[in-house]
Amino acid sequence: MEPILNYINGAFLPSTSGLTLETVNPATGQPITTLPRSSAEDVGLATKAALKAAPTWANTTMEERMVWLHRIADALEEEAETIAQLESMDTGKPISLARSVDAPRSVSNFRFFAEFGREHVEPTFADHGAVNHVHRSPIGCVGLITPWNLPLYLLTWKIAPALLMGNTIVAKPSELTPMTANHLAKILTKLNFPKGVFNLVHGLGPEVGQAIVEHPEIRGLSFTGGTATGKIVAATAAPMFKKLSLELGGKNATIVLDDAPLEEMMDGIVRASFTNSGQVCLCGSRVLVDASIYDRFKSMFVEAINNIVVGDPSLEETVMGTVISKDHQAKVESYIELGQDEGGVVLTGGSAATCPVKGVAAEGAFLRPTVIEGLSHTARTATEEIFGPVVTLHSFNSEQEALDMANATDYGLAGSVWTADAKRGYAFAQGMDTGIVWVNTWLNRDLRTPFGGVKQSGVGREGGAWSLNFFSELTNICVKQP
Ligand code: NDP
Repeated sequence: MEPILNYINGAFLPSTSGLTLETVNPATGQPITTLPRSSAEDVGLATKAALKAAPTWANTTMEERMVWLHRIADALEEEAETIAQLESMDTGKPISLARSVDAPRSVSNFRFFAEFGREHVEPTFADHGAVNHVHRSPIGCVGLITPWNLPLYLLTWKIAPALLMGNTIVAKPSELTPMTANHLAKILTKLNFPKGVFNLVHGLGPEVGQAIVEHPEIRGLSFTGGTATGKIVAATAAPMFKKLSLELGGKNATIVLDDAPLEEMMDGIVRASFTNSGQVCLCGSRVLVDASIYDRFKSMFVEAINNIVVGDPSLEETVMGTVISKDHQAKVESYIELGQDEGGVVLTGGSAATCPVKGVAAEGAFLRPTVIEGLSHTARTATEEIFGPVVTLHSFNSEQEALDMANATDYGLAGSVWTADAKRGYAFAQGMDTGIVWVNTWLNRDLRTPFGGVKQSGVGREGGAWSLNFFSELTNICVKQP
């Protein structure tokens, strides 16, 4: 495959240093292609281009920008199969998942914000003989930094509202998954998208990401990634008073109440646990089950998990592919060992050594979905983010105990509650210290709703009007007729 290059001012360029990195297919362990190992100098060039393009882009009307978003959505939709293939190859996720989630969601992010723009109005408030107009302006040049688990999905979730509100962009995808962002740049070139409005700099987080965060003329930063990195981003950006949105890690609870119809709900609970090999920030990695149904739940849960087809991501029948890399596989395996050291018992799955996946390359980063029971809900395995196909199983004796357990982590991103009584689920959800709770469903996303976490899962919300607010500055203009 041809090498990936930076996309700066509408041109594809190598890093100024000429250094490169490799992106590897996690299912085979083989390199796919190279990408630039960029530096602060490349970020400087991209920012210069973005600043130069900013006044013209900001002066386009919202209607014109909406037309652009629709054009990009249409072009992405035409290339949906290519995008799914690239994403599956880069991440090791099953092609079926890339086709059903990653590719269409990237399209709908653009389409949603294009349509949502129609509802954009400047509110006015009249009082004391004057009218207050709440006027929105772009922030200017914004930095977008995204992780490897849902590469184009998460990047477009930021690009679309940033463009809609008239900003120009310097973006950095994870160096582990640069392929679809590169493809988006190719699509923008084909569309003759204005040069310099969208710029892409590839490379390592502590080099390129940090340079974006530190750049004094990048006034807004939307970051999705781990909590440890989020702390570095916040510590760097806060003294510069940058506008900051942080979408960070999670250790989400799935709570199964005693009246939950298990036959009906088991598929949803398994999906919440293991979609994308558990590498969705919203996955439920702690399953809390009422003690009265624990044994029945456990046997049904383990049986359903044993039926998950783990294998070659390029095959239609594969339900679970790899984790993102061999390094990440080793990290996940170390947590499976830790869980056992902490007194847990592995009910199914386990490390690749004890539970090999048949018919795939030994170099592939494969793991079987794993369930550990018998741990305290305060154990490290049950409170630290593993971000892999590992779930801990716990029982509770009352709703209050379930709530206390659900809230007993430093994270607060999402959770789900499963019950025959939707009202009971809704009441329970209100006690959860998280940004998002689903009742009897999971990953059911309405793009108009606020998305984000509390505690160490992040600061701020994106989605719908919250994205428009984040990607714009408000000026209250109070006008009195002379
Ligand atoms: P990381 O925090 O390691 O990386 C996220 C991004 O930040 C990557 O592009 C990374 O680059 C970059 N980065 C790394 N160091 C710096 C730095 N010093 N300054 C600026 N940028 C930097 O997360 P992962 O990629 O490992 O993604 C997994 C994490 O993302 C999990 O914790 C998961 O929960 C979280 N996540 C949160 C979501 C949410 O909406 N709350 C959604 C999806 C994931 P590079 O990859 O090149 O190191």
